[in-house]
Amino acid sequence: AVDGPSGSGKSTAARGVAANLGLRYLDTGAMYRALTWWMMQQGIPVNDAQQVAAQAGRPAIEVGTDPGQPWVTVDDTDVTGLIRTREVSNAVSAVASVPAVRARLVALQQAIIAQTCAGGSGIVAEGRDIGTVVAPDAPVKVFLIASETARAERRSADLATDPGATPAVT
Ligand code: C5P
Repeated sequence: AVDGPSGSGKSTAARGVAANLGLRYLDTGAMYRALTWWMMQQGIPVNDAQQVAAQAGRPAIEVGTDPGQPWVTVDDTDVTGLIRTREVSNAVSAVASVPAVRARLVALQQAIIAQTCAGGSGIVAEGRDIGTVVAPDAPVKVFLIASETARAERRSADLATDPGATPAVT
């Protein structure tokens, strides 16, 4: 379980650890981003918590666990690249703060972790609530921190994949 604030390097560290130790990898942020992308596609106002909650269960969300090749789909559409835009980055924290969204995605994440472990593989899961909510019994828990400067640099490097992007506050 790799927790920590945004820009602390969770994804890079978790993917690297999983790849090096032959484990699976779960990017929970990608799932929140995918649901946010779908809400925006549907024209659902992401700041309207009631509407977001009412629709949160609709799309099928699937996520790959190969650390060498992460992917995420929504209703069978591959949104791996689409979820990294400035628009999604700006909207995701509103969607992620809705309890019905968290309930659904936490349950999905717990099912993926359980299924992977049942299949005999370990899995490195990353996100801000993994050690506390998603997998409180994880055998290894890491809370990753980084200096303000390193976090800011990492966030702007992330944004560089979306030309013209401005920093998102999450
Ligand atoms: O890690 P990433 O930046 O892709 O996560 C996107 C957003 O999803 C976070 O800024 C946060 O708002 C939300 N999130 C969350 N809980 C998680 C993972 C992500 O609320 N476990």
